[in-house]
Amino acid sequence: MVPHMKILIINSGSSSLKFQVIETDTDDVLAKGLCERIGIDGKFRYKNKDGKSLKEQVVMEDHVQAVNHLLKILKDLEYGVITDYSEIDVIGHRLVHGGEKFTGSVLITDEVVDAMREFNDLAPLHNPANLVGIEACQKLMPDTPMAGVFDTAFNQTMPMKAFLYGIPYEYYEKYKVRRYGFHGISHQYVSRRAAEFMDQDYESVKTIVCHLGNGASICAVKFGKVVDNSMGFTPLEGLVMGTRSGDVDAGVLEYLAKKEDMSLADLMNMLNKKSGVLGLSKNFSSDFRELTAAQYKGNYKAISAREIFAYKVAKYIGSYAAAMNGVDNIVFTAGVGENDIDMREEICSYLTYLGVTIDEVRNREQGKEVRLSRRGAPVNVLVIPTNEELEIAREVTKVMEQQKELR
Ligand code: ADP
Repeated sequence: MVPHMKILIINSGSSSLKFQVIETDTDDVLAKGLCERIGIDGKFRYKNKDGKSLKEQVVMEDHVQAVNHLLKILKDLEYGVITDYSEIDVIGHRLVHGGEKFTGSVLITDEVVDAMREFNDLAPLHNPANLVGIEACQKLMPDTPMAGVFDTAFNQTMPMKAFLYGIPYEYYEKYKVRRYGFHGISHQYVSRRAAEFMDQDYESVKTIVCHLGNGASICAVKFGKVVDNSMGFTPLEGLVMGTRSGDVDAGVLEYLAKKEDMSLADLMNMLNKKSGVLGLSKNFSSDFRELTAAQYKGNYKAISAREIFAYKVAKYIGSYAAAMNGVDNIVFTAGVGENDIDMREEICSYLTYLGVTIDEVRNREQGKEVRLSRRGAPVNVLVIPTNEELEIAREVTKVMEQQKELR
């Protein structure tokens, strides 16, 4: 039986902080919201389970002020969902990088925070921002336990043949340069939920999860364990994404550095922020909804950006079917995977050799759990909306149960 707890889930970025309050025994979301533009002009958005919402400008000079504001609203007589802070049993933090050290979720202690600091170089955009979120909560709710759920942890079962790059081994030994894979929380939730939905034993199926959002990755999960993930040392590797390039021959970088007089920082900025479908569509858009609309109006660059995206996804699915020597479930999730009907159809059109066929009528469904393939097909094609917060809540519950057993 799942114990009754209220968990405050925090996803802290450099200038934003997303939060949700989840009740564990019912999986109910009591409230959720977003603090944006922290340290700039401060925007706060909030909605509680009764549909009462807030959208306001609030000065939040730092993350402490942001957490302070969200706590105040959670206790507010009109908008709040708790009467006292002590009702929050535990705070769960979404953490991006756990290196090789964290293969599962943990109770956050001083040792964990120190170990995380060691990974700041590995994830300079995300890790320090995650730590700031932890520190803010520690300051404002010092007596509330906190647990950390890492986006890399689920991928830690990848075997060495999948995670090592073909570069001198000493860089792995000295600096842990290797493929880590990301979106682990989503891949974990979706792969397991797909098995539940199909009434399968999770430990007996081979699943390929296509997390297709602004950031996009594909994950091969064999018998409940990750065997490969398209993202690498950083989230830049793999698929063509909204603004990220995905796989690129490193030789291109030297060539462009010389031709365009670009620095390393310029090159990284180009690969992370100006590439993907945005760059391919000649800066038309990184947003797939806009690209779809443009496609119907005959915008050639939007059409080819979408084609390149679909082609790359299909290639990765094929390679992961090979990596697992077969596949039972191919699952679409995240903004594009859950909603982009044409994209799903185009990707699946490459996969008939695997026995993939999808039902046109079922494929019109958006944003809900659905089996697209026909009953009895050799490969199930599914849409499973991701729910990272719920997965974090489950992980945090596990951590707290383990703590109880230890006591
Ligand atoms: P992230 O969490 O990485 O920011 P999301 O998972 O929210 O990304 O996905 C965002 C992407 O999903 C956007 O490109 C958006 O256009 C696309 N998307 C959302 N709804 C639809 C839709 N109905 N049709 C096509 N694309 C959609």
